[in-house]
Amino acid sequence: MALFKRILFSLRMMRRYRHALANIVQNSPRNRQLCQIPPITFKEQGVAVIVLDFDGVLAAHGEPYPAPELRPWLRDCIALFGPEQVFVLSNKPLSIRIEDFNRHYPGVRYIAEVKKKPYPDGLQKIMAITGQPAQALMLVDDRLLTGGLAACIANVPMTYITRPYVRLSKRPVQELFFMTLRFLERLPFSV
Ligand SMILES: [Mg+2]
Repeated sequence: MALFKRILFSLRMMRRYRHALANIVQNSPRNRQLCQIPPITFKEQGVAVIVLDFDGVLAAHGEPYPAPELRPWLRDCIALFGPEQVFVLSNKPLSIRIEDFNRHYPGVRYIAEVKKKPYPDGLQKIMAITGQPAQALMLVDDRLLTGGLAACIANVPMTYITRPYVRLSKRPVQELFFMTLRFLERLPFSV
């Protein structure tokens, strides 16, 4: 029932924010990965708070830990912004992930117990915690109709990761499902 309601909400919001979504798609380079964007780039854009999605952005779908190559990126990001200004906002707040973050990246908060994206609740919670306005946040996400839509609704800028981590050999069914979703959700907004 919650999933059904969330799908209906997504469709309604997709129509309302279609221009903003099209802007995201058309202004995002293909094959964009998080590790290619030095954290300083965000700082230079005036970003104060970094909000990271997990699946696809930090690791392949369902993985418990961020990809090893991203560890230096995460450390740089935390050093630059301060751990209190770095958040993980995933629709899968697995306890193994939260424990790993608490152990290796103390101070970084993993937002749980909020309505899943595309509901803007997680982003609004981060604004309430940090006291920062929407435009000072940056959501980094690989999904247009979950993270992208939440960002549009909350008026938060988004960095759209167009080349997410995928491990087809480990979870072929799940990964193919999400590859199809990512392709289809982009389709109405591609030129
Ligand atoms: Mg994702």
